[in-house]
Amino acid sequence: MREMVAAHDKRQIASGLEQVRRRIGQACTRCGRAPEQVRLVAVTKGRSPEAVRAAYQAGVRDFGENRVEEALPKMEALRDLDDVRWHMIGHVQSRKAPSAVGPFALVHSVDRTKLAARLDRAAVEAHLRLRCLLECNVSGEASKEGWDLAHAQGQPSAMDEMVEVAHLPGLEVVGLMTMAPLAADPETVRPVFRRLADLRRHLEARSPGSWAELSMGMTDDFEVAIEEGATMVRIGRAIFGERG
Ligand SMILES: *Cc1c(COP(=O)(O)O)cnc(C)c1O
Repeated sequence: MREMVAAHDKRQIASGLEQVRRRIGQACTRCGRAPEQVRLVAVTKGRSPEAVRAAYQAGVRDFGENRVEEALPKMEALRDLDDVRWHMIGHVQSRKAPSAVGPFALVHSVDRTKLAARLDRAAVEAHLRLRCLLECNVSGEASKEGWDLAHAQGQPSAMDEMVEVAHLPGLEVVGLMTMAPLAADPETVRPVFRRLADLRRHLEARSPGSWAELSMGMTDDFEVAIEEGATMVRIGRAIFGERG
């Protein structure tokens, strides 16, 4: 039986979306970008299929999940929806790599060489190329996944590894992703986003063609991320409300 989402919740989701879209538009205006250059990925982890359906009805086509085992049943429950693109945005355990190959339009969270190698192998076996982003740890927080850009010694080898990963035959690397540290004032994380945009320029100069996308910015910091060049923002709470 279909889980019910009250009309009240549907209206809240629609109005949350409207506000997010307006704020994306305003951020684009401030920095002279077109709103079409910023794709909104609605983050649906912990949300019911019916909440996803409400966002779909309000026009969203890109949905982000952070766990494969939560995403797959939700996708199954919503398979009647047309032209939906599912994004994997969370940490993928190496042994679960094969199950992330196929269902997702884009995997944002390729965060280490070992995972890249597993995904590559699974994609080659499945005769497809997996579109993905390479996740970077810009701030150096120990709790963050991704290639380490925070420590000067780490950076050149991180870039070497990322270029190698971009050449794996089963992967189609299309850009970079990062998560900024939690901060009360989003201005404090602006340098994190700027750093990722700089890295993209370096990688593009060194190995052209794989770095168009920058997935950065969440509920608390997406406007700053857009000003620094985000092409995708991943937003949950500003659309669906606080997680219960
Ligand atoms: C949960 C999550 C988001 C969205 O976070 P909100 O603060 O709800 O907007 C974005 N990216 C990742 C990787 C997440 O896990």
